[in-house]
Amino acid sequence: MFSCLDHLECSACSRTFERHTLINLCSCGGPILARYRLEEAANTTDRHRLKGHSLWRYHAILPVQRPEAIVSLGEGMTPLLPADKLGKALGLRRLYIQNEALNPSGSFKDLGFTVAISRAAELGVKEVGIPSAGNAGSAAAAYAARAGLRAHIFFPRDVPKAFLTECEAFGAHVELVDGKINDAGKHVAEGCKKYGWFDLSTLKEPYRLEGKKCMGYRLAEQLDWELPDVIVYPTGGGTGLIGMWKSFAEMEAMGWIGSSRPRMVSVQAAGCAPIVRAFERGAERAEFWENAATLAAGLRVPSAVGDALMLRALRESKGTAVAVSEEAILDGVQQMGQCEGIFACPEAGAALMGLRQLVEQGWVRPEERVVLFNTGSGLKYLDVFHPRSAIQ
Ligand SMILES: *Cc1c(COP(=O)(O)O)cnc(C)c1O
Repeated sequence: MFSCLDHLECSACSRTFERHTLINLCSCGGPILARYRLEEAANTTDRHRLKGHSLWRYHAILPVQRPEAIVSLGEGMTPLLPADKLGKALGLRRLYIQNEALNPSGSFKDLGFTVAISRAAELGVKEVGIPSAGNAGSAAAAYAARAGLRAHIFFPRDVPKAFLTECEAFGAHVELVDGKINDAGKHVAEGCKKYGWFDLSTLKEPYRLEGKKCMGYRLAEQLDWELPDVIVYPTGGGTGLIGMWKSFAEMEAMGWIGSSRPRMVSVQAAGCAPIVRAFERGAERAEFWENAATLAAGLRVPSAVGDALMLRALRESKGTAVAVSEEAILDGVQQMGQCEGIFACPEAGAALMGLRQLVEQGWVRPEERVVLFNTGSGLKYLDVFHPRSAIQ
């Protein structure tokens, strides 16, 4: 079988659904997860002979049923770079940067949307709606254009300008709304109800997560099926973190890796850190973060649908969650640029400075193998880095 998708399952109440159900959240409010026949996937996939560099080399554990239904822009492989100079500056001997800026629309969001858009189109969807802080909108618009779907993208008014320009170039219907991504989400929900768009909001459908989980598969593949000790990820909606955590369980079930796991680290901005606060309080869910403010647009998520899943992954992995200041975020971008020649997005600047804190506290030890994600390109944030410049 091309895909070993078996059924869908609610992550909160465990209710199951037939695999070809076009679905958003469960009626209980829980995010839906895709489940596979993993034994069959393992029997039909030789992990040492995965073909090509596209994300779709993992097709057995992805939901799309027919190869013709794939909508791809060549996403999937990105370099896992040894970052020796930056490692030395931090006091780490084995630091790597996974540079997601090399994806087609410049961020890891492409991994989610190649899968979500392919599957939505396969299930007959014609129009999609999505609230976005930036990169998700660009990725949704790009893949929707390629699939021939109409995309309706709602950004908070203060979104970095590049995202707007880019979505318009992709022919999407774009609207700027007052408030944060959660407010943009309300407009999307209205449009979905009124016009029958399919809602592609973070974790409100099962398949963006399936694309993101491929970051876990790819990392294992790039490290010859040995996972690192620590993964540091800038966290907004949480799909990166939750997706990788899911991939590890699947890979173990397929016999591709053992039972040891990386410690997962969520880094947020001090101006919007609901997951850090919930983690520190030992809570299972995160409370809404009032007056969220950070220049790292992808981290400006005051309330995440997947909060419980994120917190569970952090705890099960013996990981942690840290917040960093706005000043530190800009420093982080500068340090990654100067040491490694990578123009990082502010979200990754945050991740780097979160890692720095953890090394200083001794939570990460010098000899540990650490993977830091640069989740997207700094080029989309020029008006954020230089707010007073002439860029209009
Ligand atoms: C969306 C985004 C994030 C946050 O990712 P989640 O998976 O939603 O937590 C981090 N960095 C960038 C550049 C993003 O676009």
